[in-house]
This record gives sequence, C-alpha cells and structure tokens, in this order.
Amino acid sequence: MPDQTHSRPTVASVEKRTDAIQAALEERGLKAGEFIEQAEHLVEEKWIPENGARVVAKAWTDPAFKQRLLANGRDAVAELGLTMPPHHRHLVVLENAPKVQNVICCTLCSCTAFTIIGLPPDWYKDLEYRARVVRQSRTVLKEMGLDLPPEVEIRVWDTTADTRYMVLPVRPPHTEGWSEEQLAKIVTKDAMIGVARLQGT
Ligand code: FE
Repeated sequence: MPDQTHSRPTVASVEKRTDAIQAALEERGLKAGEFIEQAEHLVEEKWIPENGARVVAKAWTDPAFKQRLLANGRDAVAELGLTMPPHHRHLVVLENAPKVQNVICCTLCSCTAFTIIGLPPDWYKDLEYRARVVRQSRTVLKEMGLDLPPEVEIRVWDTTADTRYMVLPVRPPHTEGWSEEQLAKIVTKDAMIGVARLQGT
C-alpha cells in the first residue's frame, strides 16, 4: 500500500492561496486589490443595519411613509437615499404586531436585503437555522432567546434571489415622543430579521 499521507500534495494556507489568485489576476490587468478595497468599504460603511433602522424609525413616525413602505419597499427606501442591487427586484416589508412575529430566512443559502439590513449573521447561513426555523420556528426562536407565548403567530418567510424581506418590528410603547434619530438607535439587525423583539414589545 502506498503511503497516502506522504503522496498527497501539500496545500498552501488560505491566505497564501488568495494572495496567489490575487497576484494572477493583477498580472492579467484585473484590479483585484481595488475590488477588494471597494467591497470592504461597502460592507463596513454602506451595507449596515443602521440603514434599515432609519427605515423603521421613519415608518413608526410617518404613517404615509409606512403605507408606501408596505406597498413597495424598494421605492420607499429609495426615498431615504437607500438603494438595492438590480437583482433585488422586490423589498417586502413584513409588519409585526403584538400577536404576529414575522421571521426571515433563506433556506437555500444566505440571501438578505443586505444593503438595507446589513450582511447576514453567521448563524443565518448555518444549515441548522435554515432547516429548523421553517419546521420548528417556535423552538428555534426560543433557543435564540425569544420565547413567544403560544398566542403569538409565527410567520416564516423564505427569501429568494429577487424577493428580499425585512421585518418592521413593533414600536416599544415607552418611546412615545422620541425623534427618528433616537428611535433608529434602538432598532437591531436581529429585530429586522425577526429573531428578536425590541425591549418592551
Ligand atoms: Fe440565499
């Protein structure tokens, strides 16, 4: 028997392999470094949950905006200067209520309305979450710290390439009279995915 361990070619580290790919692209005039810098800028500065938080705060304080948001999310967020990639053809905004909890997932992979609510958390991409939130939503939410009473209906929405979702959380009662800026600060990514509720709701 040949010694498999020693006949196997050595595999370089991920860092070395990505550096090699980047060097090969640069050699051919493709500006991989520039692209990576741009992508990092977008992820860290532009595709952040603070965008969605602004949308939620506006919807809580401006009933006409909320109606437009629920009717056509993509057009409504554009009013706040927020854009979505062309292939995110629809933004469907799901309004929570005291007895309705909307939850989003992507059973196929990891799709979110990432320009609005930020990139998906690691757990959102796990097969565990993607498979179980559909069939055992109440248990999964409980495991994630959201223990909903039985009278709360849970609605799970499966994202597709062209239809993206965001959850409009219930506005906490103690925030009456708050400004949009104050309200936006309490809205979290988890609440816009629907795996958390805001304090007091
Ligand atoms: Fe996906």
